[in-house]
Amino acid sequence: MNLCTLLICSLLTAGPVYQELPLGSIRPEGWLEEMLLRQRDGITAHLDELYPSVCGPDNGWLGGEGDRWERGPYWIDGLVPLAYILDDEALKAKARPWIEWTLASQQENGFFGPDKSYPYIEGLQRGMAHDWWPRIVALKYMWQYFNATGDERVIPFFLKYFRYQLETLPDKHLGHWTFWSEYRAGDNLDIVLWLYHRTGEAWLLDLAALLHSQSYPFTQAFAERDMLTRMGSIHCVNLAQGLKEPVIWWQVSGDKRDLEAVRQGLEDLRQFNGFPTGMYGADEALHGNNPTQGSELCASVEMMYSMEQMLKVTGDVFFADYLVKVAYNMLPAQISDDFRWHQYLQQANQVTCSFGVHNFDVGYKGTGQVFGLLTGYPCCTCNLHQGWPKLTQNLWYRSSDGLAALVYAPCRMQARIGRTQVSIREETYYPMDETVRFSIDPSRAVEFTLSLRIPQWCETPVLSVNGESVPCEGPVARVTRKWRKGDTVTLTLPMTVRSSRWYQNAAALERGPLVFALGIPERWEERHFDGKMAAEFGDTYFEVFPEGTWNYGLMKAAVYESATAVTVCKDTARMTGRWYWSLDHAPVTLQVPAARIPDWTLYNGDTGPLPYSQVPFRGANDMSSHSADSIETITLVPYGCTTLRISEFPVLTQ
Ligand SMILES: [Zn+2]
Repeated sequence: MNLCTLLICSLLTAGPVYQELPLGSIRPEGWLEEMLLRQRDGITAHLDELYPSVCGPDNGWLGGEGDRWERGPYWIDGLVPLAYILDDEALKAKARPWIEWTLASQQENGFFGPDKSYPYIEGLQRGMAHDWWPRIVALKYMWQYFNATGDERVIPFFLKYFRYQLETLPDKHLGHWTFWSEYRAGDNLDIVLWLYHRTGEAWLLDLAALLHSQSYPFTQAFAERDMLTRMGSIHCVNLAQGLKEPVIWWQVSGDKRDLEAVRQGLEDLRQFNGFPTGMYGADEALHGNNPTQGSELCASVEMMYSMEQMLKVTGDVFFADYLVKVAYNMLPAQISDDFRWHQYLQQANQVTCSFGVHNFDVGYKGTGQVFGLLTGYPCCTCNLHQGWPKLTQNLWYRSSDGLAALVYAPCRMQARIGRTQVSIREETYYPMDETVRFSIDPSRAVEFTLSLRIPQWCETPVLSVNGESVPCEGPVARVTRKWRKGDTVTLTLPMTVRSSRWYQNAAALERGPLVFALGIPERWEERHFDGKMAAEFGDTYFEVFPEGTWNYGLMKAAVYESATAVTVCKDTARMTGRWYWSLDHAPVTLQVPAARIPDWTLYNGDTGPLPYSQVPFRGANDMSSHSADSIETITLVPYGCTTLRISEFPVLTQ
């Protein structure tokens, strides 16, 4: 070990602030369990049958001659956590051949995975067998498999492969076969550093430095503030996945500029490309913040995963707020309620999901916006599976002095504090409701600290233990005591309605972690492809059309005095149900003063040019250009309950 490595080692004693619990320690309940069951029954348990050409037995990651790039490993990266979180033997059995083949494929020099390329066949990625990139995805699923089972073959497997990387990368750079690994090196680095913390093998730090040196320089790109201010400068998924690299590397560098660069990058992303949901306009390449630009489903699940990893490493709950925003707004809206169909590109203002090119960067022969299995591009078909299971896995962490709940959803968890088994049940209708109740059940009385995140939007949190109020300060409230069976903790996070400003000064209304949108009644129409289109995009897809009016602006008071001008309505029966995520299940709605803007009309299947706020409001008797109609009360629902929506509204003067 050289002096430099020694210095690095001394910085690395602490490791991530929060530690993951073994997969299966956190079980979903309530609406989250329903979501995971729908996911299992809809697509995740059946992708090998629904998409046999890529995920069937001829896949290269099962030893076949078929597809050998990212898509098979993507599916397994979501299937493994779902299987162990639900403790579902059939799902585990489905993942096992992939795990076993991966382990068995390792060669003497440490290389693993498909090692032979084949000529191109339409729809299959059979070349690039040695590319680093699909191996990064395979490392992710092997890592989770180890976290679920502790299979003792996995650590030697990782060590052997990382030796191979250390020896091979100097000649065959991360970008040797394709450029994807250069942008996504953070995920490779993440597992190398995890293994370093576990084994103390100092040479892993040399590999970490090598990976970092060959990674796309995100720290520099974010700090210089050029890339995110220009359209077309980076691919949407490379950005969502890659932006964690400076934070992962910060564990080695200790340089706060790595952390600051990511925060700067996320600020610029919001300002120049952002939507209220935390995602951004990038329908392949970065494409600005017009709410009719698209956001790819892969980008949402990768953004969530980046936030989860950065949260654990730094303990900075900014990343938890961000994670929740993407998860509870974008994700339910982009996948059908039966979890069989998804949309490649989602719009923040989306009034049709129609066949056509719209104004996206790439056309996908008109399939980018419709719902289907393979429509758009089928990366998302395989990658969407990681979203909800990994969110579930990140509801609780182990901290240095106890347990931490940083993201809220109904669940039950189990962990050991020393030799004491602790079970905690988390009962809540969050994010629809404001109260989270924890019932603590240790096998015997045990002292530890319970850490609870106070979301950044919450100004007046209230915390009680066994009914008695205790001090509660953000960003993380901590309660240290000797916990006994039957102890309860209640956290109330009052949600007020607030507004935020976006493209053309448009306004969005938010309450707690949820963005609210005009939910437009939907008409789904099933369509079919045949011939070459069916081979490429699947034989079934759905267009969705509006059955109601959408061209509303919000009255000024709704935006400037949201807390008083907007009425919050709760439906208790819906709130206590197991499914929230459609228009007729929305448990909380907002009643908002608004008026129609007759000039704001459909263009190319999208909302036409967004009128710049403020739009003059002259009332019903003056229909001159850009004036608005009479005042109405419109109902907004959680964004995640919508398929068709307006979430960025013009603001009307009064
Ligand atoms: Zn995708």
